[in-house]
Amino acid sequence: MNYRHAFHAGNFADVMKHAVLALILRHLGAKPAPYCVLDTHAGTGRYDLASGPSTRTGEAERGIVRLMRERAALPPDLSPYLEAVEALNAGGGLRHYPGSPRLARALMRPQDRLVLAELHPEDAAALKREFAHDRQAAVHHMDGYLALKAHLPPAERRGLVLVDPPFETPDEFDQLVAGLALAHRRWPAGIKALWYPIKDRPAVWRFHDALEASGVPRILLAELTIHREDTHQRLNGSGMVLVNPPWRLDGTLATVLPALHAALGAEEGGARVEWLVPEQAAPTP
Ligand code: SAM
Repeated sequence: MNYRHAFHAGNFADVMKHAVLALILRHLGAKPAPYCVLDTHAGTGRYDLASGPSTRTGEAERGIVRLMRERAALPPDLSPYLEAVEALNAGGGLRHYPGSPRLARALMRPQDRLVLAELHPEDAAALKREFAHDRQAAVHHMDGYLALKAHLPPAERRGLVLVDPPFETPDEFDQLVAGLALAHRRWPAGIKALWYPIKDRPAVWRFHDALEASGVPRILLAELTIHREDTHQRLNGSGMVLVNPPWRLDGTLATVLPALHAALGAEEGGARVEWLVPEQAAPTP
C-alpha cells in the first residue's frame, strides 16, 4: 500500500467528489429520520495543506485553494461543502482540508451515524485519533470491500455508501463493480457513490459496460475532466457512479459541475452528467 491521500487532498478530484458528497448528505438530512454513511476507503479524515506531502505536489493549490478564491461566484448549492471547509479553518485562511469522513461528520445531525473503514495502518490510526470519543463515528482498521459485507445494511435503512479506492492495482475497476453488486444485493435502497479516475478512457468505457451488465438499476454518471484525454499518464479527470441518487441531483449536478470546471480555471475538458442505467428502463415492447 503506497498510496497516501495526503499528497492529493483538496485537488480537483477531491473537490468534485466532496461537492457531490455534500449534496447527497444535504438531501438525506432534509428528512428527520436518521441515516448512516459507510465510507469504505476513508483516509485520515483531515489534511494539513501546509505540510510536506501537500506542498510537495501543489495539487490543493489548483483545487480547493483556487475554488475558495472564486467563492463569491459559486452557486449556492455548493455552500454546504464550502461552509464545512471554512468551519475547519475557523481562524481564517485555508490550512485544513476535510476528507470525506470529516465532511460527512460536519453535515450529519445528532441522530445520524458514520462508519469508517481504512486499511493503511498509519492512516487508520490517524483516523481513530480524529474520531476518538465521537460516539456517532466508528472507525475500523479493515479492508473496505469487506466492510461492505460487515456493515450493510445499516440499521437505519437509509443512507449512503461511499467507495473511494486508491486505484493502485489494475483490478480496482473490477473490484468496484463486484463491490457495488454486493452492496446493492445487501441494501438495494441505499445510495451508493463510487469514485473513479479518468486516465485511460477505454478502461472507463469497459467499467461502464460492466456496471450496465451488473443489473444494478438507477445509475447516474457524473464526470469532471480538466485536461484533454490525449495521454494516460496523468489524471485527466474523475467521475462518480451514483446509484439511487437523490431526486433531481442530476439537474443540480448539471449546473454545479460546469461551475466547478470554470472556477477551477480549467481550459480543457468539461463536465458530463448522464444516466448509464436510467431511472425507468424503457418498457420492453
Ligand atoms: N475517501 C477519502 C476522502 O475523500 O477524503 C480519500 C480516500 S483515498 C482516495 C483511498 C484510501 O483508501 C487511502 O487512505 C488508502 O490508504 C485506503 N485503502 C487502500 N486500500 C484499501 C482497502 N483495501 N480498504 C480500505 N482502505 C484502503
